[in-house]
Amino acid sequence: MIQTLVRRCPRLLPALAITPLTRWAIAVHSVHDDDPWRATCACGHALWPNATRPSGRCSGCGQRIGAPPYSVEATAGLAAIALALTGPSGWALAAYAWWTATMIVLAFVDLAVMLLPLRISIASAAGVLILLAAAADWHAWRRAATAAIVLAVLLAILAVAAHGQLGWGDVGFVVPFAAALGWESWWSVYTGVLLGFGSAALFAIARRKMRRLPPGSTLPLGPFLIASAMTVLVWP
Ligand SMILES: [Zn+2]
Repeated sequence: MIQTLVRRCPRLLPALAITPLTRWAIAVHSVHDDDPWRATCACGHALWPNATRPSGRCSGCGQRIGAPPYSVEATAGLAAIALALTGPSGWALAAYAWWTATMIVLAFVDLAVMLLPLRISIASAAGVLILLAAAADWHAWRRAATAAIVLAVLLAILAVAAHGQLGWGDVGFVVPFAAALGWESWWSVYTGVLLGFGSAALFAIARRKMRRLPPGSTLPLGPFLIASAMTVLVWP
């Protein structure tokens, strides 16, 4: 395993290079629904490049802004190792690298403001489907696109039926989620969905029992689905 990692080490370098960009994107998009995107820190310094350091502190005023210290860097590092060990190659690797970067942004934004912004999900899905199309495995591509459409339709029906328990951000999010899993197999899609929703439900029940989650409040669903998808994708 170590030998494989060393041989594929050059693949890890882009992950380190894009971490400041990922951290910046999280700070920009961690805003509530009707608020404009954030461009500056409260002290007036521009987020780029002042809020891109691993400490998560603004270089102008020292206030913490965006994701917790070193969390984005640690997550990106782990994801890059997983991709290097088990990931595909060529255009498919480019697709999964883009998918992973956008999923990290979505997970941290969801943890911060309980939202999965549609603009990031759309960018994620478009990038993944275009890069996977370049890999030219049409059988896998059709499965990825079909999985994305089927899951989005199912969640849209659930969102209408659930009257606000499920947001349109969740519906948009399942498009890149299902596309990445669908490229692998239908089994990956089923497992990712079951694991994601199942772990979120179990976590919510456990928190309620411990009285840490007041009745009526909700959990961010994104991080559960993203962690499940990543687990399924790197599972040997
Ligand atoms: Zn500042």
